[in-house]
Amino acid sequence: MTTEADLVVRGVPIHTMDPDRPLAEAMAVRGGRIAAVGTEAEVLTVCGPTTRSVVPDAAMVLPGLVDGHTHLGFAGRQVAWELSLSPMSGPAEILPEVRERAGRLGPDEWVVGGIVGGAVLDAVGTPEALAALDEASLGRPVLLRDDSMHNRWVNSRALALMGVTASSPDPPDGRYGRDARGELVGLLYEGASTRAEAAVRAHTPDARARDLHSVRTAVCILNSLGITATMDAATMGVWLDAFTELDNAGELTTWIVACMAAREFVDPGVAGPELFATAARRRSAHVRPDFVKAVLDGVPMTRSALFLEPYADVVHGGAATHGCGFYGHSFYTDEELHDLLEHAVSHGLHAKLHATGDGTVRQALDAVARVRARHGAGPVFHVAHPEFVHPDDVARFAELGVVADASPALWFPHLMNTIIGAQRGAHGLERIWPLRELHAAGALLAAGSDWPAATLRPDPWLSIETMVTRRNPDPAFPGTLGPDQAVDLPTALRAHTANPARAMGLGDQTGQLRPGLSADFIAIDQHLLDVPVDQIHRTQVRQTWFAGTLVYESP
Ligand SMILES: [Zn+2]
Repeated sequence: MTTEADLVVRGVPIHTMDPDRPLAEAMAVRGGRIAAVGTEAEVLTVCGPTTRSVVPDAAMVLPGLVDGHTHLGFAGRQVAWELSLSPMSGPAEILPEVRERAGRLGPDEWVVGGIVGGAVLDAVGTPEALAALDEASLGRPVLLRDDSMHNRWVNSRALALMGVTASSPDPPDGRYGRDARGELVGLLYEGASTRAEAAVRAHTPDARARDLHSVRTAVCILNSLGITATMDAATMGVWLDAFTELDNAGELTTWIVACMAAREFVDPGVAGPELFATAARRRSAHVRPDFVKAVLDGVPMTRSALFLEPYADVVHGGAATHGCGFYGHSFYTDEELHDLLEHAVSHGLHAKLHATGDGTVRQALDAVARVRARHGAGPVFHVAHPEFVHPDDVARFAELGVVADASPALWFPHLMNTIIGAQRGAHGLERIWPLRELHAAGALLAAGSDWPAATLRPDPWLSIETMVTRRNPDPAFPGTLGPDQAVDLPTALRAHTANPARAMGLGDQTGQLRPGLSADFIAIDQHLLDVPVDQIHRTQVRQTWFAGTLVYESP
């Protein structure tokens, strides 16, 4: 039996993210694991004549990056099959794109796409808008998803394939949009959306093969950006099956920690305790269905997030229901949330809670406090999207051991933040993304992209840079967004490596370069500590290695 390393990486400074040895000259890999990290002389002691020497044409080696919040299946499906729409587009831009796509499809194929901004949905709830979508669709069924992923804009052919007519009652968990006369207008709210997704799936040949190709596509993109571990933030059974099948076939080149959906999320199927009960048999070497995911509210842009102060005093989209004194609401009562967390924890699962308003952030922290009092420090809890956190709640993240899942990476001037600012009440964008406060109070900051819900590309380099600068490199969006909430570069790097790995339960597997961990590492074209911080978004990944195997190399 040989103890010689399979390969040794050298010739490039290695930044390990390991506080015990942050910098190294060389790293040896054996059997997909890191065998040694240190000076060349130290590492050469585990090398022999068969050890392959790797000298990347690069400026810096880092651990493979970790994206703490993605939706892999949806992202891959969007890139591989679907019509990609900007959430900033209006009907005038969307309809020609639908027509162009429809023209390239067979007569019964669905045009599926997104993201459509919530404001567009508010504007198209009329028979005229439905007729315009029907006309653009050339007779194909159309399903377009909104930015909350909760609602859909569909055409008449899609409604027919769903078996829905004007006389159909609303489903118990949702609503079919209608005009004043009760006619359908092609809008689907909440649970009505899942019925449309089920119709798409029922009319898609080879849905399984498509799922696998979608996940392969997404993972390929992650690897090209230097990402080798991610958290799938709301997993339905079909996607968990796809992850495991690829892993068992030796094809999966990223770790995936899956958050099983507590309620149906985007795709139809089994959710909640029935899904959680299948976790053990769906586990594989790199796929860990260890979390449950509950969505406590929507998003501030569509006034579906719950805040502690009322939304701005304007009537939204002509809807009187969103008038003065509107705070938004939670999809869970305190008891429902408590029962869900109790169930999860008593089955050995952890939980990620989507909470975009400071009201649901507080509800999540209160629920965690109750569960901690009974079960202690073991279970892991994430609050996803803590863009608004009341000052009284900042310290509670650390006190309660709640991870700040900082996603999506929008802590810089951006059209979405302009829209959010217009909806927010008296305090506007004040203290938005309070990352410095959370970090200073001792919270674990774990960054995520929320790809594809908030971005067409899960770019970690833009995310790292803007955590430090709070500036958009795009000159179309000048200025800064709350620069007093910036963190320093080492903190931003940890938030994209060791921290999310730890938050996902992978701290003993990846996110750092130290002996015993999986040999997940990247070589990049510039030294992040030597270039001006506002150039970090230009970083190119030269090589990505997963478990000791080269899985991406730049052309
Ligand atoms: Zn998400």
